[in-house]
Amino acid sequence: MKKCPHCDKVLMASILPQCSWCGGELKENELRKTKEEILQRWEKDKKDNEYRKNLEKHGEEVRKAFERNIRRRL
Ligand SMILES: [Zn+2]
Repeated sequence: MKKCPHCDKVLMASILPQCSWCGGELKENELRKTKEEILQRWEKDKKDNEYRKNLEKHGEEVRKAFERNIRRRL
C-alpha cells in the first residue's frame, strides 16, 4: 500500500497524478504501482465479463434445447 507523501493517507487507485484525499500532486514513481493495479483490475474485469457472457450464452442454449424437448413431447 502506498501512502500520500502530503497527507499520509493510503492512496486510492487513481489514474490522475493526484492524491484523492488532499489533491496533492504525486510523482510518477509514486503513482506507477496504482496505475499498474488499475490495469490489472481492468484485465481481470474484462475476463470476468467474458466469462459471464459465455455462461449466459450457454444458459440460453440450454434453455432453448429444453423448450424444444418439451414442445416435442406435447
Ligand atoms: Zn494526500
